[in-house]
Amino acid sequence: MTTAARNFEAGLQRPEDAQLFSRAELEKIRADFPILQQKVHGKPLVYFDNAATSQKPRAVIDAIVRYYETTNANIHRGVHFLSERATEQHDAARRTVQKFLNARSANEIIFVRGTTEAINLVAQSYGRANVGPGDEVLITGMEHHSDIVPWQLLCDDKGAKLCVGPIDDNGELLIGEFADLLSPRTKLVAVTHVSNALGTVNPVRKIIELAHERNVPVLVDGAQAAPHMKVDVQELDCDFYAFSGHKVYGPTGIGVLYGKAALLNAMPPYQGGGDMIASVTFQKSTYNKVPYKFEAGTPDIAGAIGLDAALRYVSDIGIDRIGAHEHDLLEYATTAISQIPSLQIVGSASEKAGVLSFVLENVHPHDIGTILDQEGVAIRTGHHCSQPVMRRFNIPATARASFAIYNTREEIDALARGIEKVREVFA
Ligand code: PMP
Repeated sequence: MTTAARNFEAGLQRPEDAQLFSRAELEKIRADFPILQQKVHGKPLVYFDNAATSQKPRAVIDAIVRYYETTNANIHRGVHFLSERATEQHDAARRTVQKFLNARSANEIIFVRGTTEAINLVAQSYGRANVGPGDEVLITGMEHHSDIVPWQLLCDDKGAKLCVGPIDDNGELLIGEFADLLSPRTKLVAVTHVSNALGTVNPVRKIIELAHERNVPVLVDGAQAAPHMKVDVQELDCDFYAFSGHKVYGPTGIGVLYGKAALLNAMPPYQGGGDMIASVTFQKSTYNKVPYKFEAGTPDIAGAIGLDAALRYVSDIGIDRIGAHEHDLLEYATTAISQIPSLQIVGSASEKAGVLSFVLENVHPHDIGTILDQEGVAIRTGHHCSQPVMRRFNIPATARASFAIYNTREEIDALARGIEKVREVFA
């Protein structure tokens, strides 16, 4: 299968067709991120922990400051000027997310704290209403803990079973075995679009097709996909899609659950409180329409406005160009570090997003991270909230470099030099 065809399968928009950033463009992008201008331990900061959280451009920081300096008020309930303006800006953020995901309606966009809360919402609302004793929820062997534990809680509560599609030695989902696990008892499929531990891009379009043939809805965990590739929820035909603002250059504390209107309308509320009701008496409450039914209490208004700025920043540059840049970095880094003796890359799927996990013989990943930190290079070490993936590869942890819009090939050279230093220390 060609790369383009595989990208199509994965729901990608052929980033290899996009033009790479020129040196001047990249410098301009880097200048947008104030945090990158500093030194760490006397060395220029090289930030390769983007899969954990990405840095914020000035446009996002300014939008949040501007909101607090000029607009701050609670939304929906006020008739005064500031409240109306805050409400308008919050509504505008929802429309920006709708456009970003190409959702049919802004009402299909629910603001949550992040991917974790989005998945818990679906598990506790859709799951509790639709999963019963003996039923099954199907996930993959490369899920983040936040796409495992909410389903375990649900299954434990309901007497249902969590089924897991296995992955191979490259970190790819065994799609045939996954399809075989779809049974008449499967009530929901939940898969990650991109693995945070391995970088694998899953063939989500194919997975959705397989599940839909059996009338099973699919939730896609897009935490690691939304920052790197065009996501079109209508084209994918996913039933739910979740992502976190803070990984896509927005603030922490804000994220998104997309859900098809028909499903959201039929689902019971997740949390009770202000804003999610139509009327309340001590005998009975009735609920607001979606999306408000799922947004109890004062939301993260500034967060939504910051996310709006982040998504506009990404869209102005072009998500395809961002994906192409990161892909170039991934290929460059893969070539550079695979030449280092005793280094092993963990995760070599044919389709990967900008995540490079590796181990060094006889060196604990935490030691790699600590020595690289002294060189100004920030990577993540540990199990990456994916303990089952570590178990699958018989390792306790990996070192992980993950790439973003502002990273450069020179920074990867610094990473490779740092790894050589680690080897010298442990020689
Ligand atoms: N899923 C994946 C694949 C992730 O990488 C992460 C974050 N590491 C999450 C879910 C959870 O995201 P958050 O912590 O922002 O809720």
